[in-house]
Amino acid sequence: MPKYVYSLSEGRLDLKDLLGGKGVNLAEMHHLGMPVPPSFTVTTEACNAYLAQGREPDELAQQFDEHVAALEAEFGKKLGDPEDPLLVSVRSGAKFSMPGMMETVLNIGLNDQSVQGLAKVTDKPRFAYDSYRRLLAMFGKTVLDIDGDAFEHVLDEKKHAKGTANDLDLDVEDLADIVGQFKKIIETESGAPFPQDPKQQLRDAMLAVFRSWNSERAVLYRRRERIPADLGTAVNVCAMVFGNLGMESGSGVAFTRDPATGAVGVYGDYLQNAQGEDVVAGIRNTLSLDDLSEIDKPAYDELIDIMERLESHYRDLCDIEFTVENEKLWMLQTRVGKRTAEAAFIIAVQLLDEGVIDEKEALARVTGDQLVALMFPHFDEKADREQIGKGMNASPGAATGQIAFDSQTAVELAAKGTPVILVRRETTPDDLSGMIAAEGVLTSRGGKTSHAAVVARGMGKTCVCGAEDLDIDVKRGVMRLRDGRTLRAGEIVSIDGTSGDVFLGEVAVVAPPVVRYFEGELDQDGIEADTLVHAVHRIMQIADRSARLDVRTNADTAEDAARARRFGAIGIGLCRTEHMFLGDRRAYVERLILAESTQERQSALDALMPLQKGDYLEIFEAMDGLPVTVRLLDPPLHEFLANLTDMSVRVALAEKEGGVSESDEKILAAIERLHEQNPMLGLRGVRLGLTIEGLYTMQTRAILEAVAERRQAGGDAKAEIMVPLVGAVQELEIMKEAILGVVHEVSEATGVDLSDVLIGTMIELPRAALTAGEIAEAAEFFSFGTNDLTQTTWGFSRDDVEASFFTDYLERGIFGVSPFESLDQGGVGRLVKIATKEGRESRPGLHVGVCGEHGGDPASVHFFHDAGLDYVSCSPFRVPVARLEAARAAVGAADETR
Ligand code: PEP
Ligand code: MG
Repeated sequence: MPKYVYSLSEGRLDLKDLLGGKGVNLAEMHHLGMPVPPSFTVTTEACNAYLAQGREPDELAQQFDEHVAALEAEFGKKLGDPEDPLLVSVRSGAKFSMPGMMETVLNIGLNDQSVQGLAKVTDKPRFAYDSYRRLLAMFGKTVLDIDGDAFEHVLDEKKHAKGTANDLDLDVEDLADIVGQFKKIIETESGAPFPQDPKQQLRDAMLAVFRSWNSERAVLYRRRERIPADLGTAVNVCAMVFGNLGMESGSGVAFTRDPATGAVGVYGDYLQNAQGEDVVAGIRNTLSLDDLSEIDKPAYDELIDIMERLESHYRDLCDIEFTVENEKLWMLQTRVGKRTAEAAFIIAVQLLDEGVIDEKEALARVTGDQLVALMFPHFDEKADREQIGKGMNASPGAATGQIAFDSQTAVELAAKGTPVILVRRETTPDDLSGMIAAEGVLTSRGGKTSHAAVVARGMGKTCVCGAEDLDIDVKRGVMRLRDGRTLRAGEIVSIDGTSGDVFLGEVAVVAPPVVRYFEGELDQDGIEADTLVHAVHRIMQIADRSARLDVRTNADTAEDAARARRFGAIGIGLCRTEHMFLGDRRAYVERLILAESTQERQSALDALMPLQKGDYLEIFEAMDGLPVTVRLLDPPLHEFLANLTDMSVRVALAEKEGGVSESDEKILAAIERLHEQNPMLGLRGVRLGLTIEGLYTMQTRAILEAVAERRQAGGDAKAEIMVPLVGAVQELEIMKEAILGVVHEVSEATGVDLSDVLIGTMIELPRAALTAGEIAEAAEFFSFGTNDLTQTTWGFSRDDVEASFFTDYLERGIFGVSPFESLDQGGVGRLVKIATKEGRESRPGLHVGVCGEHGGDPASVHFFHDAGLDYVSCSPFRVPVARLEAARAAVGAADETR
C-alpha cells in the first residue's frame, strides 16, 4: 500500500523528492530538538496521483485521518472542538522552493461555534475574530478561487471608515462584522456557504494546494527556473501557533547571513501581533531582530542559538520563518536560503575560510550565471525608470544613450563622445562599425543567435534583441511604442541586456569591480580591499586547479584575443575571418566576384593576401605561445556585396537618367546570380573554398607567412587551420591537399618548419557527425560548430525561428530553453558524442573542442566535460564563466545551484 502521509519523526533529508523542502526541513529541525509545532506531510506522490486522476488516491483519506488523530492526541486538542479547537495550517512545499508561487491556508478549524470557543479559552475575542477573517479570506482565494480584491476591499473600507491604515486599530466588533461580510462574499461568489466542518475545510485546502502546482504563475516560475513540471508539491499540515495573540506574540523571517551582500551576522524582520503573511506583505513597518532582543530577550536568545545551529548543520546560509506565541518561540520553516550573486561568492569563501566546507563544495556553491551577473554593469534598481518594452536578454549589461537608427550616425555621435544605442529592426555585418561605436544594441527582430546577439556578445556589448512591441521604422527614423507614443533619433533610451528590459530616458548604472579584476587592473591590495573581488579571485584560483576541460576563446581581432587572454583563455578556438573582408576590403571582394579571368581573380586575391597576413600577425602576437585556430572563410560571398533591393533601385534610377555605370550593372548581375533562397544552406563554408579557386589557399598562405614571420622574429605562433561546413571527407581531403601544398611552399620559401601546423575541420552538419570516423582520417582536430549543428539537426533557421515561434514552443514546453542557447543534449548532443567517439576510434587522441555559442553556456559546458571534449571556446567575456563551469563540472557539481 503506498504511503502518502509521513509524520515529523518519519521525515529525513533524503526524502526531499517525496516530502518537499519544507517537509524534510521541518523534520530535520524536529530531530535537532528545535521547537517545531506538531505536524505531518502529505507526499508529492499523492499530489501527482491527484493531478493525474482528478481525484484523491484511495488510500489517502484513511492515512490522512490517522495523522490528524495523532496530531490531536499530541496537541491535546480536537479539530472542530467548539470549546477549545485545534487549528491547523496547510502549506505547500515542493522539492525546490518556489517563493510566493504556491498557496497557504492558515487557521483551519474555525467556524461560527469554535471562534467563540477560541475567544473564550484565550480570553482574546479580538484575536479569535482576526484569525477567523484570515481563514475566510485565504480559503476564499485559494480554495474557492475568489478574487482576493473582494476581501481586501471590505478590509480597506472598514479601516477607511475608522480613519486608520493600521489593521491593529480594528476592534472585535469591526472584525466580527468583516467576518460576516466575508462569509457573504463566499456564499455569493461560490454559490455555497463557507464549510463549517473543519475536516472538509482541511481536505479542501489540501486539494487546493495540490491544484496550485498547476496555477499559471507556478507554471511560469518553473519554466523560468527550469524546474521540472512533474515533481508535484507536498502539503504540510501543521498545528497553528499564533503570532497574533497580542504584543507578546509576533511573526518573523530571518537569515543567518545577509542574503544581499553575504555579510556575516543575522538579519531579519519581526512584526508584533501578526501572522506570517503580514511580514512579507509589508502592511506595517517591521522591526529588526535587534528590536526583538529588547522586546523579548529570551525568545531572541533562543532564536540566535537556533540560527547558529542551523547554519552549522546545513553548512550554509539558512532562511527561517518563526513565530513567537506568548513569548514562546516556534520554528515554522527553514531552508538553505536564496541569495544574490554577490552574496553567493562571498558566502562560499567565508564558509571555506571558516573550515565549514571544502574547495570542491565552494565551487558547487556558485554558478557561472552568477559570475555573469557580476561582470556586467547593471542599472540601479532603486533608480526611477519607465519601462517601454521587453525583448530577449541577448547580451548582459546596462547601456544608455541617444537613439541612432543607422551605423553612420552612431559612429559620428560616438566620435563626438555622445553615447548612443544603435536601434535597428535587425543588424547585418554592415552594422559592425555602428555596433562597435554604440554603447548597446536594440533590435525588434531576431533571437539569441541573431547577428546582433552573437556579435554583441562577442564584443561584451549590451544587447536586447527581438523587442517586438517596439515598432522600429529605420527609414522614417521613428520608434513607435505600444501606447502610440513615438521616439525619434537623438532621444534617450536605456537597455538592460540582463533582463531584456527597455527603459525611456537615462537610468543610473553601477560599475562592476569584478571586470576590472579580470582585466588585470587591480593589484593584490586592490583585490584584498574588495570583499567581492577577493571572493571571486579565490574561487577562480580553485577553479583553475580543478578543471579538466580547457577554455579557449572566439576572437577575430588582436584586441579581443588580448582581452580573452587576460580573462584566462588558453588559446583561440575560433578566429572567424569574415570581418577581414569588410570595410575598405569590400572593393577587393567585388573584384574577386566580378573577375572574368583567372588573372583578374588572382590579382584580387593577391591584393587581399597582405591585408589578411597583417591581421594574423597581430593575432598571433597577442596569443603568442598559445594555439590559434583560424577558420577559413565561411559565409556566402554575396553577403559582402550591396543589398539586392538597394542596388536594383540604384541601377533603375540611373537608367532613367540614362547613365548606368558598367560596374554597377555587373555588380547587380552578380548579386542576382549569387542570390540564394536559403543562403545558410547554400554556397558557403568549404563549398565556397572548393568553388572559388585560390580563395582558401590565399588565406592559408597569409596564415602561414604570418606564422613564419613571427617565428623568425623570435615569437611562438601556433596555428591550426580549420575548414568549415564539411559534410563529406572528400571535401576535406581535396582542401587538405591544397593546404599542404601551401605549407610546403611557404616552408621552402621561408626556411621555417611549419609541419606542426594542424589541419582540421568543424563538425557542424549531421552528416559530418555521422561520418566522423571517416572524416577523422583526414582531420587532425575537430571543432563542433554547434550553432550550425543545431540549425541543421532541427531544421531551424537560426536567424528566424527564435523571434517567430520559439516563445510558443517554450510556453508549450516543447523545450525549456532555446536549443541555440543551451545545447539540446538528447539530439545535437548525441551527435557530438557519436562524432567524438568515432573520430577518436579512427584517430586515437584526436583533439576535440566546441566553438559554437554553447561553449559559454553553463549547462552545455557540463555536457561537453562529460562527453570527454578537450576544450570549449567562447566569446572573451564568457571565458571566466566557462573556466568556472569547467571546474564545477569536474568536481561533479550540478549545472546550477538551487
Ligand atoms: C557554428 O556554426 O557553431 C560556428 C561556430 O560557426 P558560425 O556561427 O560562424 O556559423
Ligand atoms: Mg558554423
